[in-house]
Amino acid sequence: MAYPEIELYVDGQWRRASGAPIINPADESVIGTVPHATRADLDDALDAAQRGFQVWRKTAPNARAQIILKAAALIRARVDEMAVAMTLEQGKPLEQAKLEILRGAEIIEWDATEGMRMYGRVIPAGPGLQHTVYRQPIGPVAAFSPWNFPMSSPGRKVAGALSSGCSIILKASEETPAGALQLVRAFHDAGLPRGVLNLVFGDPAEISSYLVPHDAIRLITFTGSVPVGKHLAAMAGQAMKPAIMELGGHGPVIVCDDVDPVATAKASVATKSRNAGQVCVAPTRFFVQEKNFETFAKTFAEGAAALKIGNGMDPTTQLGPLANPRRVDAMERLVSDARKRGARVLAGGERINNRGYFYPLTVLADVPDDALAMNEEPFGPLALVNPVKNLDEAIAKANALPFGLAAYAFTHSADNVQRISNDVETGNLTINHFVASTAETPFGGVKDSGYGREGGIEGLGCYTVTKNVSHKFG
Ligand code: NAD
Repeated sequence: MAYPEIELYVDGQWRRASGAPIINPADESVIGTVPHATRADLDDALDAAQRGFQVWRKTAPNARAQIILKAAALIRARVDEMAVAMTLEQGKPLEQAKLEILRGAEIIEWDATEGMRMYGRVIPAGPGLQHTVYRQPIGPVAAFSPWNFPMSSPGRKVAGALSSGCSIILKASEETPAGALQLVRAFHDAGLPRGVLNLVFGDPAEISSYLVPHDAIRLITFTGSVPVGKHLAAMAGQAMKPAIMELGGHGPVIVCDDVDPVATAKASVATKSRNAGQVCVAPTRFFVQEKNFETFAKTFAEGAAALKIGNGMDPTTQLGPLANPRRVDAMERLVSDARKRGARVLAGGERINNRGYFYPLTVLADVPDDALAMNEEPFGPLALVNPVKNLDEAIAKANALPFGLAAYAFTHSADNVQRISNDVETGNLTINHFVASTAETPFGGVKDSGYGREGGIEGLGCYTVTKNVSHKFG
């Protein structure tokens, strides 16, 4: 099966280098090598990004959009080939890989067209005096993207930067490099001027500690864990640089007693199993009003147990392997701790000892508040289902953690919607469905889940600086 040769991309040229093996999580076979950038590669990328920025910021927004839209069209045309590479490196079922790529293309298209509307503001200040507010691209961006969405996560960062007139150095995940490589290849083939987009891999700590404080870099964007995000944000702060931090979550789901518990549980199974739960917006803590609790928990467990687990290349697979052995270890640790503290295992609960990093969708009920799983982002196929007496209790529990990325609620009561919308501490709240983020809406967190937004006009705004020009004339 075709897995591309992974290369660095610096100043419009592909570069080979030695590096580390890439593992297929479904069978633990080696499928390729990820090249590691040297300090000289990074210096070249920094020079290229500075030159590329000068070219790109002076390119008309309409001309920029045409190139970006062409890249999106190439991505759509190549979806099948790209999806195979992503399933091989990351494990997600092929159909989900295709959906990720198409969603990535949609984000790129939306940002490209919105980038043509980078308006300013004129403030008449009396005779002979006028203030003009400009929005200008901030400059070269250093972007760090994770392994759970190998194409759409870097795609969102590249789209935001390029659509705003910035250049970018992307340090994508070493574990899933093909998603980013194929993304970058589409921009190369679409005729993006050299230096505007650069792709590197290597030792993440070494690269970030060099790029983040570097004078050439004007903005940091990172998607990943809270501890690494805090580390990078501190480094950025030390260098007085703005940052976009898309960090972890621990999605609460409030299920009120006025909804159908069976339909809600079935929708929860479908969402929780997506990408084997390795999603920052994954619903994890289900707070179900008592009347619906038993039916909801039973339906959830039955749905989880019925999922077909297997290699993502098999079209009948519904739950693929986890992306790396760290996630399987984390599931074992969290489930064993919850069990010890009295949680009931309704489905799953044991790793699957085949080759590959398989773990079933596990449903735990009556999980005490002090269980590790109730506090630490599982980032895997683990659902925690607990009864609550009323909405006050559900909201208090939803807000109990330091995270605030995505939250969900199921209710048909306008009063409940109003309460939940006002009181749940989260960057994104979704009511009666599970799509937490779209191209046109701002996505991001509060509290430890980070700051800055990706998507929507707010997302593009993060890649710009505001300049006021005050003009006395006449
Ligand atoms: P990790 O904390 O070691 O790494 C998280 C990500 O940060 C990886 O992509 C890694 O390459 C990168 N990274 C690590 N150190 C870095 C550094 N010094 N500079 C720049 N990048 C660095 O954990 P992991 O095992 O890879 O992932 C597990 C945890 O990460 C999960 O529990 C989850 O909370 C979080 N995560 C979140 C997202 C998200 O979408 N928000 C994505 C992936 C992982």
